[in-house]
Amino acid sequence: MSYDAIVAGLGGMGSAAAYHLAARGKRVLGLERYTPVHDRGSSHGQSRIIRQAYFEDPAYVPLLLRAYELWERLEEETGEKLMTLNGGLMIGPPDGALVSGSAGSADEHGLPYEILDASELKRRYPIFEPDPEAVALYEERAGFVRPEAGVRAHFDRASSLGAELRFEERITSWETNSSGVRVETERSSYEAERLVVSAGAWAGELLAGLGLPLEVTRQLLFWFRPEGGVKPYAPERVPIWIYEPDDGNMFYSVPAVDGEDSVKAAFFRADGKPADPESIDREIHDEEVEFIRGYLARHVPSMNGDLVDAKTCMYTNTPDEHFVISTHPEHPQISIAAGFSGHGYKFCSVVGEILADLATDGKTEHPIELFSPTRLTNATYG
Ligand SMILES: Cc1cc2nc3c(=O)[nH]c(=O)nc-3n(C[C@H](O)[C@H](O)[C@H](O)COP(=O)(O)OP(=O)(O)OC[C@H]3O[C@@H](n4cnc5c(N)ncnc54)[C@H](O)[C@@H]3O)c2cc1C
Repeated sequence: MSYDAIVAGLGGMGSAAAYHLAARGKRVLGLERYTPVHDRGSSHGQSRIIRQAYFEDPAYVPLLLRAYELWERLEEETGEKLMTLNGGLMIGPPDGALVSGSAGSADEHGLPYEILDASELKRRYPIFEPDPEAVALYEERAGFVRPEAGVRAHFDRASSLGAELRFEERITSWETNSSGVRVETERSSYEAERLVVSAGAWAGELLAGLGLPLEVTRQLLFWFRPEGGVKPYAPERVPIWIYEPDDGNMFYSVPAVDGEDSVKAAFFRADGKPADPESIDREIHDEEVEFIRGYLARHVPSMNGDLVDAKTCMYTNTPDEHFVISTHPEHPQISIAAGFSGHGYKFCSVVGEILADLATDGKTEHPIELFSPTRLTNATYG
């Protein structure tokens, strides 16, 4: 049987692409090397921050607005709670990348926000010990999405719309031909008119011919049980937050999700070491726990309680930390979603829509100019 489209890799982005393609009546085959909703890629760990005032670049804001709409639509379609908007705090020096970049993108797009000085931040949210000169940008429509539930919801919708999803079937190669593309797996081979490559940390392997300068890094997620109890860390009491300390090592937290007694903390980039997705070290080492404890002890002391759990995950970074979303420069029947550089999950819903546009029409109305792979042709890491 030949398909309209094959989706290579069914994690955050691929599950969304399979759904959007199936919703357009396409015959879709999704292929995934691991089991459904596994924890060996980049879309696991209970929660992912979602926010609109986007310090990374204002160009993301229109995509975020659509991403919110599509997450809400998916919630309605599945009855699943996928997104919780409990607000967000971007804390740091007023002229730092986090606060000034978030404010700049909010101003450019007319997004509402509030600036709190350090004493007002502490008054409203007593968990913090901010630097005296720090300020916080508060955004009401920030919060978190649930990655495992999001992937599952996209699978459920895709399957009920007729997509064929195959797990534990690794793609070994693909090649273009006169009718589209032929994909080889460890078990079989398949033909389709279009191929979507959404392979996360393995994108470099499946897109080797493109020579994208992708760097996979090992990232850690920690859950701590706050001293004095979890109550002040309930989503009703405290928003998600990102803190930019004076050494620039941004770290963040998502409050106690769904009645859990622990709170998530992680570095945004500070602890990422280059890693091979096949041989990544999944053990957490004492010195790594101590490293994040140092930041919690200084800025959110009551969070520095017992370590309840920790997990490894992977970022797939581009040199400029912007995504790659495009048709393949040499093969227009191939669409690519890669290099999400540690901030992609919140966009899965809209990236699925964009990938369906690219695979169906070869173009999209969404603004994706920033994500062209050709910008990276001669790029190197600093
Ligand atoms: C610790 C951590 C914290 C993060 N926090 C946030 C956050 O707060 N907010 C946010 O927006 N983003 C965040 N991110 C980033 C976000 O999670 C990722 O950008 C996003 O999940 C990437 O999705 P993906 O589909 O590209 O990768 P994945 O979800 O990993 O999917 C790729 C899939 O392809 C499969 N695959 C690969 N090769 C093959 C093959 N040959 N054959 C078949 N299948 C294959 C893999 O098994 C995998 O399932 C975080 C990431 C990490 C690691």
